[in-house]
Amino acid sequence: RMNHEQSRALYDRALSVLSGGVNSSVRATRPYPFFVEKGDGGHVIDADGNRYIDFVMGYGPLLLGHSLPEQVQSAIQQHAAEGPMYGAPTEVEVELAEFVTRHVPSVEMLRFVNSGTEATVSAVRLARGYTGRDKIVVMQSGYHGAQESTLVEGEGDHTAPSSPGIPESFAEHTLTVPFNDKEAAHEVFEEHGDDIAAVLTEPILGNYGIVHPVEGYHDTLRQLCDDHGSLLIFDEVITGFRVGGLQCAQGAFDIDPDITTFGKIVGGGFPVGAIGGKSEIIEQFTPAGDVFQSGTFSGHPVTMAAGLETLRYAAEHDVYGHVNDLGERLRAGLQDILEDQAPEYTVVGRDSMFKVIFTRDGPDSLEGQCEAGCQQQESCPRFEYCPKTGHDVTQAETERWERLFWPAMKDQGVFLTANQFESQFICDAHTGEDIENALEAYKEAI
Ligand SMILES: *Cc1c(COP(=O)(O)O)cnc(C)c1O
Repeated sequence: RMNHEQSRALYDRALSVLSGGVNSSVRATRPYPFFVEKGDGGHVIDADGNRYIDFVMGYGPLLLGHSLPEQVQSAIQQHAAEGPMYGAPTEVEVELAEFVTRHVPSVEMLRFVNSGTEATVSAVRLARGYTGRDKIVVMQSGYHGAQESTLVEGEGDHTAPSSPGIPESFAEHTLTVPFNDKEAAHEVFEEHGDDIAAVLTEPILGNYGIVHPVEGYHDTLRQLCDDHGSLLIFDEVITGFRVGGLQCAQGAFDIDPDITTFGKIVGGGFPVGAIGGKSEIIEQFTPAGDVFQSGTFSGHPVTMAAGLETLRYAAEHDVYGHVNDLGERLRAGLQDILEDQAPEYTVVGRDSMFKVIFTRDGPDSLEGQCEAGCQQQESCPRFEYCPKTGHDVTQAETERWERLFWPAMKDQGVFLTANQFESQFICDAHTGEDIENALEAYKEAI
């Protein structure tokens, strides 16, 4: 059995000086988190020397894993050594912006910020400023970071803040619809169309299970926004440079949003966010326009260098081919295991994202089901049963997942995100052997 004495002692100290012992709530795993000593390729090693296959990958930013290639490391070190930051522009932020605009279909211009949260906050302000309207539409159980306007619960225009500390009046301007429900989207536009500044959605829900869009869902949103003069904002903080490779999920789904938010991978493992889109819209930010946006650390040279060299490395080394291939092998292997051991459970994910949702019901026969993860195909026998919304995921066996399954995987040296909702990721440093070992662990733990 693994020994966790050092982690336990560190958590004891942390509880005295850090709220809840952590700096981000998802890290407070039960009974206490392991503290990381260091990363090694696709693995992490904890303070007691235990080694885990790491599928958390920092909750998404680490496309290449923990051991950065030489070209990435030296760019980071050079920029850190020359002086961390200046309050004046540098070439590397222009280069990263040029790279992103070259590869992401809808993005002509960008503004870099310091987190995904900051990106979605700024994107919502920009959409409101550009359209002169106040209301935004978000998906129930979508996640856009720790921001006032999107931390809402409830349905349609009956919304309330989902956290204490947020005035009721914020929620008044936020309308919610269930993901994948075209009817509900039409209804909200029929009622409020003239007041809607933007629809803000993740192209694939990545923080509430992994929920893939049904055929035509994004086209419906695109059309409704066009018909009513509203903007479509894709929050690609998690899918950006992960799903669909360098063109991002919008390329994979062939949808041009008006605004895209980025974070996670685009900073190569350092704090980052970005707002991109058509020049006409992005130029509304100050100083070119009037919508206030500013930040001491924005476009930080070390972050920009890490992001740029990570994406260049991915472009030059078929990183997406490797991680997507391993993802497919893992999801297909999981489906085989579930067919034997728990046919009601659903494998979700695409490219290098994956998860098993402990859904309670499934079809009698799995003949002809979506291969290597739920793609919401109507012809799939599971179509009636696989989660379509975040709410569907909450109805699955979330307690069993968190209290029994997750610790059993951890004990076998596989580090998964610690609840049924957050996505898991494959990185370039993972190997076929990691996939085989992970599948063995799933076989034991399910
Ligand atoms: C992670 C995430 C955010 C928040 O990003 P932070 O950098 O944690 O502030 C926003 N939207 C989506 C879709 C995310 O996955």
